Amino acid sequence: MKIGCIGLGNMGAAIAANVLHARHEVAVWNRSAEKARSLIDAGATLAANPRAAASDREIVMTMLADDAALESVLSGADGLLAGLRPGALHISMSTISVATAERIAASHGARGQHFLCAPVFGRPDAAAAAKLFIVAAGAAADLQKASPLFGSISQRVFYVGETPSAANLVKLCGNFMIASMLETFSEAYATLRKAGVDPHLFLETMNALFASPVYANYGKIIADETFQPAGFALRLGLKDMRLVLETAQECTAPMPLASHLRDRFLSAVAQGQGELDWSSVARISARAAGL
Ligand code: NAP
Repeated sequence: MKIGCIGLGNMGAAIAANVLHARHEVAVWNRSAEKARSLIDAGATLAANPRAAASDREIVMTMLADDAALESVLSGADGLLAGLRPGALHISMSTISVATAERIAASHGARGQHFLCAPVFGRPDAAAAAKLFIVAAGAAADLQKASPLFGSISQRVFYVGETPSAANLVKLCGNFMIASMLETFSEAYATLRKAGVDPHLFLETMNALFASPVYANYGKIIADETFQPAGFALRLGLKDMRLVLETAQECTAPMPLASHLRDRFLSAVAQGQGELDWSSVARISARAAGL
């Protein structure tokens, strides 16, 4: 298939490489063009702008930092909306807000363009290994069309219905759960360290109880304090706490723990940790304990 890949950051570059590897014809675009170099060397075409990356494509995938980045790629004379032909499909894989996903769905609908939201679970190493978990929502026929692509980048797809923005809410609530786990590790490790117990020994026990790769990976990263380079930048984790709270506010569903986590991530950004991995939120508890 003729595919466009827009956004070649930590996640987008790994996803585009797997799409290329699956022998699709791939056009790429990234704001900083140098990040496209290895993909061009591997056979992708460099598009001059998002419009060019979308024109003549059956499917365009976007993987961008946040709502503002996606909106800027979509809009204007050189934007994706202007380039995508009627009947073609945009798959938005970024973690964005429910409200923005709804707005984008309406913009595509008005132009006869198709739209799926397909945010992912899994860090850049999972993306490189084509082991992502995809949460997808949109028309079932569009999901069918996207299936071969999803097969080349993921280990499993969860379909959560016809309304594209539902996938974003599932993703945001999932990241809230992961952030809660980061905070519980942070507080437990601070106490263990203060009391002279090695967190790695604690982690062995927790892995037996919880038996989850997410617990095992983050438990080790925090115990080893390997927060650089960031797999998932803390500034993006703060964005996700903000976005889940936006929808909670809209639905009048209090999320007191999410409010607390938003402030923990905000403190971490204020202390210069925005570009570290989001698991470095553990430093806030460590500092509070005088470590
Ligand atoms: P990243 O490495 O920071 O990459 C962000 C991408 O967005 C880059 O291509 C960047 O372009 C582009 N961008 C930022 N602002 C832009 C703007 N105003 N206009 C155009 N392009 C812009 O982030 P990532 O880790 O790949 O994450 C991408 C998305 O996936 C986010 O929504 C994140 O929440 C989600 N996610 C991440 C992970 C993870 O573990 N990393 C896991 C699941 C989901 P430049 O290269 O020019 O800066």
